[in-house]
Amino acid sequence: MKEYKLLVIGAGAAGVTAAVAAARAGADRICLVDRDSCIGGVLNQCKHSGFGVGYYGEEMSGTEYAKRLDDMLTQAIDGGADIELRLGTMVTKITENRHAFLASQGCYEEVAFEKCLLASGCRETTLQSLCVAGTRPEGIYTAGEAQKMLNIYSRDVGDDIVILGTGDIGQIMARHYLDEGKNVIAMIEKSDAAGGMERNRRNIIEKYDIPVVLRSTIVEVFGDSHITAVKVRNLDSGEENIIECSTLITAMGLIPERDILDWDEKKQLPDWLTMCGNCDYVHDIVDSVSLQAERLGVTLAK
Ligand SMILES: Cc1cc2nc3c(=O)[nH]c(=O)nc-3n(C[C@H](O)[C@H](O)[C@H](O)COP(=O)(O)OP(=O)(O)OC[C@H]3O[C@@H](n4cnc5c(N)ncnc54)[C@H](O)[C@@H]3O)c2cc1C
Repeated sequence: MKEYKLLVIGAGAAGVTAAVAAARAGADRICLVDRDSCIGGVLNQCKHSGFGVGYYGEEMSGTEYAKRLDDMLTQAIDGGADIELRLGTMVTKITENRHAFLASQGCYEEVAFEKCLLASGCRETTLQSLCVAGTRPEGIYTAGEAQKMLNIYSRDVGDDIVILGTGDIGQIMARHYLDEGKNVIAMIEKSDAAGGMERNRRNIIEKYDIPVVLRSTIVEVFGDSHITAVKVRNLDSGEENIIECSTLITAMGLIPERDILDWDEKKQLPDWLTMCGNCDYVHDIVDSVSLQAERLGVTLAK
């Protein structure tokens, strides 16, 4: 059985930065694993700019930031860093006796490790978490799915779009769609003000004059094979309105991805396990992920 000093799960900004920092600080036998076929995680689907000012001192797109990570990792490995990169490999479980189970095409392997850095990012809250009546026709996507369809697979999502949630990801998708000539009919928000970073509210909701329906939520979805409308309810007055649409994008927040842990999360984490990046808590800005990862990587090398 292979034995690693440090197993890093996830090769997004958190995992790559931490693995390189640990190697530079003297750690060897590092294994960096990602289920995707390339490194960078969520950055690969972010074509918009607004990344990197706090860490690299210059503004770039998410995909350019991912390229920086790739270059940094390649340089480190070429320079002798003892990092084994295993892409296309899913860690299915880690156990309390410090074993991990790695699944890749045609192969299922058990490995042992001394320390583990969980850098598995986060997942999106879906419509299933709300009590929404009606069927589940085609045309309903999370913002992350919609972003991948647009930026990676070049697939159309429809023309008349309602977005549930006004956080940063929902706003970024709204801007993408408006730039594509689509109709963003409304953004629905349960709070009494739009969410997200101030710079996004200014540059997206205000600049594009997007209608935001506050103190409201979606209570019903209409459509047989494809969505045709949603019913929106005001949380204070109970007044309901039907909005016709061809697409519903849900942007209701992110949840740290820790399902891989084989034990009760409320139990104190063992001293060999560290969490980093969006799997620790949801970071608005990638620079904050990189800074945390660099610090933790150095600590883990000790
Ligand atoms: C739509 C969107 C817009 C954003 N806009 C900005 C912006 O404008 N400016 C900015 O600074 N920041 C922005 N961010 C935030 C920033 O991109 C993220 O906070 C940061 O990239 C997260 O890095 P991470 O490494 O924690 O997670 P991720 O990038 O999600 O990486 C996690 C990795 O773990 C892998 N993984 C998960 N589970 C397993 C497993 N069991 N086995 C193997 N691999 C696994 C995944 O495949 C993934 O590659 C945005 C984020 C999103 C989603």
